[in-house]
Amino acid sequence: MIASHGPIPVSDYMALANAHYYAARDPLGAAGDFTTAPEISQMFGELVGLALADLWDRAGRPEGARYVELGPGRGTLAADALRAMRAAGLEPEVHFVETSPILRAAQAERVPNARWHEDLHTLPEDGPILAVANEFFDALPVRQLIATGTGWRERLVTLDGDRFVPAAGPPVPAAAIPDPLRAAQPGTLLETSPASLAYVRLLARRMNRHGGGALIVDYGHDRASAGETLQAVRMHDYANPWIEPGESDLSAHVDFESLARAAAEADVRVQGPVAQGDWLARLGIDARAEALAGSAPHRRDEVRTARDRLVSPEQMGRLFRVMGLSAPGWPAPEGFA
Ligand code: SAH
Repeated sequence: MIASHGPIPVSDYMALANAHYYAARDPLGAAGDFTTAPEISQMFGELVGLALADLWDRAGRPEGARYVELGPGRGTLAADALRAMRAAGLEPEVHFVETSPILRAAQAERVPNARWHEDLHTLPEDGPILAVANEFFDALPVRQLIATGTGWRERLVTLDGDRFVPAAGPPVPAAAIPDPLRAAQPGTLLETSPASLAYVRLLARRMNRHGGGALIVDYGHDRASAGETLQAVRMHDYANPWIEPGESDLSAHVDFESLARAAAEADVRVQGPVAQGDWLARLGIDARAEALAGSAPHRRDEVRTARDRLVSPEQMGRLFRVMGLSAPGWPAPEGFA
């Protein structure tokens, strides 16, 4: 495409590479490229399910609530969350937003009665939503804007021989650059994710009309800042994002400040972001770990190790952040204060 039509924006490159990457494989777990929180322990999905069931309960147990998950991977989080919800008296209809046929098949094995969507536009327009996205937003494409001696430009991907290389492209309007960065040093890089903002706005619009809440869990930063975070991961190691696109997972840190602003502008309430470790601790992961270890003493070490991976600040506990959204008139989700 680049050879015949010319350079493309980094965001298009990332979207095309990830569409191929996720359509062609199940990347999760020890034998794959990376491991996510729900694949580490059932405790993660159970606590997500309980947090959503508790929110629904305090909202007065409205009829017709739907469980909506963005990028459900193998369906592990959903299976664990739905089991915990059922124990709390909630049996919602299940809607998955997933583009990968391979992962849809894996999800159907664990959650056979789910319905699938390419994006949020086809989700039925009635009833509250109880939504969750774990490591979904980091996979959505980012634009890269780069400061040059002649102003800010969009970064494109072009070819140097048979190698892909990033290069400064056309100027971007000054309005796209936050004030403090207008006169940044040449070479300064800024990432934005219009696709992520669009997802948050669609979630917010549904919550405004029909109620509900959402939990967004991802690695990222609480304050928007300059710098490149686009990365490639392959077989549990970093790879070069410009080599063999579609064969490694491309992701970027989630800019929670921009997501929170988009949600607030759409009139939904925002909680956090807080550290995943603190959030899981407030929701009672230690009590759950104790109960699991008590009922299967031979698994005590395994449960302890999994709990530490999810909670400890040196592991996933601090880098991963949790943000909560809730509809006007709904209570705030638990675990944020
Ligand atoms: N939530 C899962 C999987 C995370 S991997 C877990 O925590 O284990 C990212 C997931 O998002 C995959 O299911 C992938 O297929 C899906 N995905 C990535 N980009 C997408 C897009 N643009 N639209 C819909 N789904 C997407």
